[in-house]
Amino acid sequence: MTPEHRSDVTMPLPSGLAAVEQEIARACSDCGRDRAEVTLIAVSKTFGPDAITPVIAAGQRVFGENRVQEAKAKWPALMEAYPGIGLHLIGPLQSNKAKEAVALFDAIHSVDRASICQALAKEIESQKRQPELFVQINTGEEPQKAGVAPHEADDFIRRCRETYGLSIAGLMCIPPVDDAPAPHFALTAKIAARNGLAKLSMGMSADFATAIRLGATHVRVGSAIFGHRG
Ligand SMILES: *Cc1c(COP(=O)(O)O)cnc(C)c1O
Repeated sequence: MTPEHRSDVTMPLPSGLAAVEQEIARACSDCGRDRAEVTLIAVSKTFGPDAITPVIAAGQRVFGENRVQEAKAKWPALMEAYPGIGLHLIGPLQSNKAKEAVALFDAIHSVDRASICQALAKEIESQKRQPELFVQINTGEEPQKAGVAPHEADDFIRRCRETYGLSIAGLMCIPPVDDAPAPHFALTAKIAARNGLAKLSMGMSADFATAIRLGATHVRVGSAIFGHRG
């Protein structure tokens, strides 16, 4: 997308963001999808306001963080200064942070166990705030990684809905680093389809174009926009 097509642009696109926008547009047109079906989440973890502000000024409005405390320290001031920011939690959530997470985030991509469901249901009810919820699927069944195993996904999604009364928007996955990502994206899409879930959070800097071709509605892109994390 070129700057003149963005209504809210006030500065030229930083080069990383421009390249990512271009690749998203190409992936969408390759597979006949509308660019508007794909939300770019600019993953700003570890970066401070100096790096984030130019990306906001270029028109980007959806950002991702992987830690509640870090997000709480840097985003309230930025959100005050720039209206219309959407903040997504893409990293693991502890039950004792559910209150802060529901208060701060517009989406949570890491719902993966009963204790989190219970804590989220309680906070959604008491704060009258409803972040969009994604169930994380551990498609590679990696023991060190968060997420629900694929064979437990249908049952977990049913319990989210029936036991905890949660409205689940979609699924999220992080493929194993050494695997080809496409089969993991395809598996996540298949589980979503059979559970009536419309949204798919998948694809990072190295593989977001592949994810878009396999149906991603949310791509989480950090280093391709902000550069390497220290
Ligand atoms: C850091 C992170 C990303 C972004 O990774 P890049 O490779 O820098 O694009 C995406 N998703 C999750 C869950 C992350 O923690």
